[in-house]
Amino acid sequence: MSSKVIVLMGAPGAGKGTQARLIQERLGLPQISTGDILRALAAEDIHSTQASGNLVSDDFVIELVRERTANPDCRNGYVLDGFPRTIAQAERLEDLTAEQGMILEAILIDVPTEVLERRLTGRRMCPVGNETYNVYFKPPRADNICDTHAGVALQQRADDYLDKVHIRLETYRRQTAPVLDYYRRSGRLDVVDGNHQSEEIYASIRDLVVKEQTAGRS
Ligand code: AMP
Repeated sequence: MSSKVIVLMGAPGAGKGTQARLIQERLGLPQISTGDILRALAAEDIHSTQASGNLVSDDFVIELVRERTANPDCRNGYVLDGFPRTIAQAERLEDLTAEQGMILEAILIDVPTEVLERRLTGRRMCPVGNETYNVYFKPPRADNICDTHAGVALQQRADDYLDKVHIRLETYRRQTAPVLDYYRRSGRLDVVDGNHQSEEIYASIRDLVVKEQTAGRS
């Protein structure tokens, strides 16, 4: 049976990271987040591109994904979160998954633009444990302090400020939305309604992933 690569698609703020983490915890497929990998690099130029809301070069990101997915933990499949973001990346991913003998399924987490804006500008993170809050939808008990790590002030990502959010949403519309058509045309795109609580969204995604795994076995 071929293993699955689950590509989580969706605009910034759609909840790809949250869902990829749940899939990792509960279905055992590792989460590969290019945004997280890039943020963890000691590379000033990369971080300033990220902070600007624009995309890092295709070649660079593709190499990161190639290296990361060569790890043994990806042998039985993996979840991509934030990749591919351009048609060029999607085309290179076809080659990579073919080399790895994997089958690709894309799932779009669909969220209205006005909700995305609040999810992004309201997002705050604990620098110690990565717990995520939102000042509009899920505020911490004490103003800007982590519920789990006493006294630790929450942080806002540099690219979650409103001007950068506008750039990111525009970049998504221009460069990433065409990737949805690319997968839709080849019959590999499923859509879930992302304007719900994360557990409900997870249930829809899990049903698709499990159905696809079962279909892959037959
Ligand atoms: P994310 O954490 O997925 O919202 O990504 C944050 C930023 O990292 C993006 O705005 C880009 O600057 C960069 N980035 C993440 N993934 C990619 C990718 N696949 N291609 C190019 N740039 C990326």
